[in-house]
Amino acid sequence: MNTPVLGIHHVTAIIGQPQPNIDFYTGALGLRMIKLTVNYDDPETYHLYFGDTAGTPGTAITFFPWPYAQRAQPGVGQVLSTAYAVPNGSIEYWLKRLSKRSVSSQRAERMGEQMLTIRDPDDLQIELVETDQLPDVQPWLDGGVPREHAIHGFHSVTLAVAQHQPTNDFLRDVFAFRRVSEEADVVRFETNQGGPGGFVQVQARPDLPRGEMGPGTVHHVAWRVTDDDAQAYWRNTVIKAGRHVTPVKDRNYFHSIYFREPGGVIFEMATDCPGMMVDENINALGTQLKLPPFLEDQRDQIVSKLPSITLPVRL
Ligand code: ZN
Repeated sequence: MNTPVLGIHHVTAIIGQPQPNIDFYTGALGLRMIKLTVNYDDPETYHLYFGDTAGTPGTAITFFPWPYAQRAQPGVGQVLSTAYAVPNGSIEYWLKRLSKRSVSSQRAERMGEQMLTIRDPDDLQIELVETDQLPDVQPWLDGGVPREHAIHGFHSVTLAVAQHQPTNDFLRDVFAFRRVSEEADVVRFETNQGGPGGFVQVQARPDLPRGEMGPGTVHHVAWRVTDDDAQAYWRNTVIKAGRHVTPVKDRNYFHSIYFREPGGVIFEMATDCPGMMVDENINALGTQLKLPPFLEDQRDQIVSKLPSITLPVRL
């Protein structure tokens, strides 16, 4: 297999109001807003992207705000936690920074790594994990966080499942991930190239109900593949493994397929190309509402239905 799954591409969650989300991810976490667009399947809903300076694959957390929906209960068959990689020795900085903003955070340790767990404004669990193996990304340095503490893309996601085996077998036998460690009810796998950005923890949570879909829950995790050929290979492989896979969808910045892994978590496989700079240059990323060509002629109508928001001010 010469087209491995490279790591996490992006994580997409559903939230309530857009403004507290924008303020938290840019203001508290110091990420760059890298794209302001709409949900292509539901254009009256924003799609907000936050990542590094260049919108590098493996850095983007994205959100669909549903301001009028009831908050949903996360549970099995969902991503329960999304972890970012931060440099070793930066936990103290983050404790102080978050406390100043009245964001509560808790120290924890998992598999020998020091981390903070945080709840975002929609109660999504975010983790900051110290590592000396920082992914090769371009941290955003205009968000008020110095490079020595800045978020360097994703570290991992944690999937909640009713039982380990179906998901573990899928990750090992179909995705060709390696089982690298385990602790209590959590098993960690890594992608072919491994390391932070290519980790996934599988946690058995038979105590939880099946997750609902709505504000406060992660909708899916997307995995990186290089290009359309690699995606076609993986689409066939996943179909052969008995999963129902969608046709390829053009998401303008990447091409995507979707399916559920056997534990119920929605997986996407997204291409690294063409990338976030297909419709904006690096300086302009995230500064205005971008629509895909097929929605551009409905721009006025779409804009009239979207809630007004205040975009982050550059420091
Ligand atoms: Zn996605």
